Amino acid sequence: MFVFESDNYIGKKFGKLTVVEFKGRKEIKNDGKRKRFMQMFRCKCECGGERIVALQELQSGKATRCKKCKPSKLIGRVYGKLTVIDVVRKAHKDKKTKKQWGALLKVRCACGNEIIVHASALTNKVSPKVSCGRC
Ligand SMILES: [Zn+2]
Ligand SMILES: [Zn+2]
Repeated sequence: MFVFESDNYIGKKFGKLTVVEFKGRKEIKNDGKRKRFMQMFRCKCECGGERIVALQELQSGKATRCKKCKPSKLIGRVYGKLTVIDVVRKAHKDKKTKKQWGALLKVRCACGNEIIVHASALTNKVSPKVSCGRC
């Protein structure tokens, strides 16, 4: 028999989400057929936000961040050999210094190497960065 050990998941990381608490089971309707249950977990996001997510969503990779961290439009874009896989830092203006900070992106090169680059390095019309520099 399958025994569900909710404790096994506490502290695990799925994307930006870390499982902090088991919230119980939630019944989901399945077209009047057999009842199904989802294990719900409270997760803490790297941004400080929280989200209650079903274990299935975590395991399938559907839920990797809280709702506050909307996936950036940049993720999935391809620049030469580089594909954007994550936003390390969003573009923002520092309120104190009034300095404008560009976005920092994590990109995966066609060779498998992952590097962090400034968004401007990819979108620069004059000389865009199109590979990781190692290949
Ligand atoms: Zn978040
Ligand atoms: Zn490369």
